[in-house]
Amino acid sequence: MHTVAVDVTFFDQEIETLPRERLRTLQEAKLAALVASTYGSNPFVTGKFDAAGAAPGDVRTLEDLAGLPFTTKAELLACQTDEPFSTNCTFAETAYTRIHQTSGTTGPPLRVFDTAESWDWWGRCWGFVLAGAGLTAADRLFVPFSFGPFIGFWAALGGADKIGALMIPGGGRTSSQRLGLMADMGVTAMTCTPTYALRLAEVAGEEGFDLSEIPLRITVHAGEPGANVPATKARIEGAWGAKCYDHAGASEVGAHSFECQAQPGGTHAIDSEFIIEVVDPATGQPVAPGSEGELVITNLGRAGFPVLRYRTGDIVKVDTAPCPCGRTFTRFDGGVIGRADDMVVVRGVNIYPAAIENLLRHHEAVDEFRVTISTRREMAEILIEIECRRSVDDEPTVQAVRSAFESSLGLHPEVTAVQRGTLPRFELKARRFVVERG
Ligand SMILES: [Zn+2]
Repeated sequence: MHTVAVDVTFFDQEIETLPRERLRTLQEAKLAALVASTYGSNPFVTGKFDAAGAAPGDVRTLEDLAGLPFTTKAELLACQTDEPFSTNCTFAETAYTRIHQTSGTTGPPLRVFDTAESWDWWGRCWGFVLAGAGLTAADRLFVPFSFGPFIGFWAALGGADKIGALMIPGGGRTSSQRLGLMADMGVTAMTCTPTYALRLAEVAGEEGFDLSEIPLRITVHAGEPGANVPATKARIEGAWGAKCYDHAGASEVGAHSFECQAQPGGTHAIDSEFIIEVVDPATGQPVAPGSEGELVITNLGRAGFPVLRYRTGDIVKVDTAPCPCGRTFTRFDGGVIGRADDMVVVRGVNIYPAAIENLLRHHEAVDEFRVTISTRREMAEILIEIECRRSVDDEPTVQAVRSAFESSLGLHPEVTAVQRGTLPRFELKARRFVVERG
């Protein structure tokens, strides 16, 4: 076991280090309370119980929960026929104070309704995320986005409030203006997508802005995998001279996992606020600890818009070894490894976009990329377009990328260098992987 070089910061140390059996007792008590407050008043939840022939009093333990049916995104979307509200709302309209929604990049947006209590719970979950990365009341947290219906930044603001950090909003300005604001304010922490952290560093390079003028020490990333891709993490840390932390969450369920300062190569689930299951995506049966499977989540702090056994579509692998940080919360080896529907089988090998991103980010000269995987023919074809820092004729980099794919993944992609500025730049929800399925 390696030791932690820094003092570990907790948000709620007692809860985060509870023995596992006491965590289970806490989860089961919260589960029983959730079922009691939603059955009979939440039409969707009541319908699920009734269809399964389950009585609310039957759900007392984690094993009982595992006997209930899953909840899917399609079901939650179908609840929205009660425009603009949802049949997954437990309380009367007057109980709700906030609304947020999913980005809608892969389908119609899902609207989520929060009570004052559940909005506060979002902030509590982000308290675990930010304190887990070492944020304290002495930090100045920069959020380089405008606030819209996406929950991430609102929840980060709630978490920073609970910790007492100084929060600096950076919406409504260009990347260049944001760099100036960060330097002026002496920003020490930033939360954004991994893509945008790299984009800001790229803009600094283009404009001759010296990033050492910003005393940044922590970056916390959400919205995309990136921060758990080792080469991407290393690139962000190298550009900013800061430690880079991963976080995963979803509007549908909440902010559910975070990376601690021990950085053992993965994340912790917030077991006090969620019940985690990992199942075989094909059969829905639990997988053995240490095996990859789909993350299924029950949230325990959102009675106004609950999800029982929500199928996230995210692939994770539980690591049962204790974490050097001292937390007893569940560990995910490598964080969220990928999306179940992003996985492509090439020559019998399961490949997730993160593995491809990791290979490409190892090449210093590659600033941006796009990967198109076509499975239309019997043999999958992969096209990789790269933008190189030095010039479009950077043949050594093209060759190096090609041979890295051959030696690491046994793949033979077509690699093409394109003119700088050809490939799209992203701030949120980067889409660098295109899969054309046969
Ligand atoms: Zn840890």
